[in-house]
Amino acid sequence: MAQSGSNTPVSAAQERHGVAAGLKDQVSGLMDSAIALRRGLHAWPEIGNTLPKTREQVLAALDGLPLDITLHQTTSGIAAMLTGDKSGPTVMLRGDMDALPMPEDTGLDFASNVENCMHACGHDTHTSMLVSTARLLSERRSEIPGRVLFMFQPGEEGYHGAQFMLDEGLLNVSPLSDGTPSPIKAAYALHIVSSIPVGMVGSRGGPVMASSDTLSITITGRGGHASEPFRTLDPIPVACEIVQALQMMITRRIDTFDPSVVTITRLIAGTTTNVIPETALIEGTIRAVSEKTRNKVHENIRRVAEGIAAAHEMQAVVEIKYGYPVTVNDTPSVDFALDIAESLLGEGKAVRMPAPVMGAEDFSYVLNKLPGAMIFLGGTPADKNAATAAPNHSNRVYFDETSMSHGVALYASLALRTLGVTLS
Ligand SMILES: [Zn+2]
Ligand SMILES: [Zn+2]
Repeated sequence: MAQSGSNTPVSAAQERHGVAAGLKDQVSGLMDSAIALRRGLHAWPEIGNTLPKTREQVLAALDGLPLDITLHQTTSGIAAMLTGDKSGPTVMLRGDMDALPMPEDTGLDFASNVENCMHACGHDTHTSMLVSTARLLSERRSEIPGRVLFMFQPGEEGYHGAQFMLDEGLLNVSPLSDGTPSPIKAAYALHIVSSIPVGMVGSRGGPVMASSDTLSITITGRGGHASEPFRTLDPIPVACEIVQALQMMITRRIDTFDPSVVTITRLIAGTTTNVIPETALIEGTIRAVSEKTRNKVHENIRRVAEGIAAAHEMQAVVEIKYGYPVTVNDTPSVDFALDIAESLLGEGKAVRMPAPVMGAEDFSYVLNKLPGAMIFLGGTPADKNAATAAPNHSNRVYFDETSMSHGVALYASLALRTLGVTLS
């Protein structure tokens, strides 16, 4: 284990060497237990905000570490606080713990034992990396000026788990025992991605992931005989017109440089070939990378759907359910994180992404409150190439576990460097 905390100035090169020599040794010593925990979590995945088995495994793995643990009541969330020997602010690291409702077809030795439940987004690796980081930083407690808050959250896959933890007071951290305030200075989350090569990370300042809302439009006409449409109000052509018009709205009303996606994923109408039904239902998803465009798209969907229905003497009822907000990274935090990642992984291995990804993340709720960043971690399996490996959320996705050593080193370095520890 490397010792640091001396006041001797070190050059960037020395620091890099020091990181490689000290932290990396410490990380490699933790990898067997990290992989074992990850496989244990993978074999017993759970969905949503209630993850009793997962919580049990995480608590067992944290047992014996000098952490103040708060078990959240509204969800299976765990907040674990490590207090260093010196005073200073707090830095928060997040790992999500939930799986997806889908079958697993990877053929892995440690594949899911639970029918229709799979860790297909790699949250098992995140949880395990965060546990290992807690171990690593506990060993370095004497050199930590401040605190590290480990956020183990459930319900990332659409259940607003992070928001539940915020509502339960996650960010209201108490002062240190001597009364010194120790507010949370920054928050970081890593997300493993099977389509980014191992040994690389990527992120960007500003919007990094999209908002995700769901859309439902019910068109009500008047049913009747299919041979006499003029005696009815047929909602089916109106539904088709609305679907087309929404695509035109996106290209004509929305700023090309602040884009949005509206995808209609479900159309339901009718029961047979000789009946005009009374109603038609349209459902889909709405993505945006700014709150301004998000709101504008919502307004435009309402106007277009209601206007087209009215033009044909029908009614459209538009229901938009808010999902996660846009995930917006703090640019200085991204610069800081990518610089650290490059020092760990080598030149050219920390990439600034040219555009956001259109998936969504509930770490967005945290980044609406604190500066910080969401960083993508390369995890392409060794026998695949990044372009064709099964993607996250595939029933066949798997990850290279060596990427977890990069994740632990990055989590730990982010915490130490945010608190001002020079890695030497
Ligand atoms: Zn996911
Ligand atoms: Zn995920």
